[in-house]
Amino acid sequence: MKKKKSLFVATGDELRQEVIKKERGEELTKAMLRHFERFHSLSEIFDRDVEEQILLEELKNLQNPKQLNFEKGLVTFSPSSASKCERELYYKATRAEKDEQPMLPYQRRWVRNGSAVHAAVQKDLLLAEVHLKNPAFTVEKMEDGSPAWEHNLKNVKQFDYNDIRFQVFGMMDGILNYRDGSRIGFEFKTKSTTIGAVGNYKLKDAQESHKEQAIAYSLLFGIDEFIFVYESLAKDGWNKGVEAKPDIRAFYFKPSEEQKTNLLEKFARVAAMVERGELPKPEYDKCLFCPFKEVCSKDGDQ
Ligand code: SF4
Repeated sequence: MKKKKSLFVATGDELRQEVIKKERGEELTKAMLRHFERFHSLSEIFDRDVEEQILLEELKNLQNPKQLNFEKGLVTFSPSSASKCERELYYKATRAEKDEQPMLPYQRRWVRNGSAVHAAVQKDLLLAEVHLKNPAFTVEKMEDGSPAWEHNLKNVKQFDYNDIRFQVFGMMDGILNYRDGSRIGFEFKTKSTTIGAVGNYKLKDAQESHKEQAIAYSLLFGIDEFIFVYESLAKDGWNKGVEAKPDIRAFYFKPSEEQKTNLLEKFARVAAMVERGELPKPEYDKCLFCPFKEVCSKDGDQ
């Protein structure tokens, strides 16, 4: 029987690029995990300068929130909405009524734990660059010397694509400088169910929605390489010692030009539909966390 010819045959150059990307990814993810393992092998550190810096940052962000150049009347997208259903983006842009979304107490504690560990990891990164000998990563600093993350990085940027103007607004977990001088987008994600959630079986790569978020960061902050770190808040038994299952994983992602173009196209398409008052088609595989289920079910499949 004749074998069917594949429609896509990678060229030698494409294959070489894939190999380079894989090697780079392995280098960075190994370095990231080693960075955390080395730091978490140190005895607990109290560093007055870092403590002061973090408190002053919080105070600054409370007292003087960063002023941004939003353009009035433009549809605004956020990086976390990059993977969402286009109809959901339409509802958000047109300020449709959201469903009531009561959160149970354990769910609030779930969210609270994730936020607390986020803040702890940021502090770890600042301490690691001071207390590790030859740290693989340092936190990039803004012009005023503050760390390049969260509110300090917050930005809005306008785009014109296919004659449609829109803006992207957001912030990210951080920008790190790798020891070779490159700038790496750092995204930290927690898993709160079981340690298996970060195991090799369940987590083979960064989640697709997280990659799409990174593509939007790439457009907004001009960063081209990302490391996602996933930490399970559930840990293996204390007495397991060196046999304990890994609770932290890292993945590398480099958005392609095609992925960036696809996202620009998606945002431009939704912005144009908002302007025309034309409802996008529903994407029912994306409904789980959508806050517009009620209004959407009234609108139906049109
Ligand atoms: S309910 Fe589902 S189909 Fe409707 S807007 Fe939300 S994600 Fe899209």
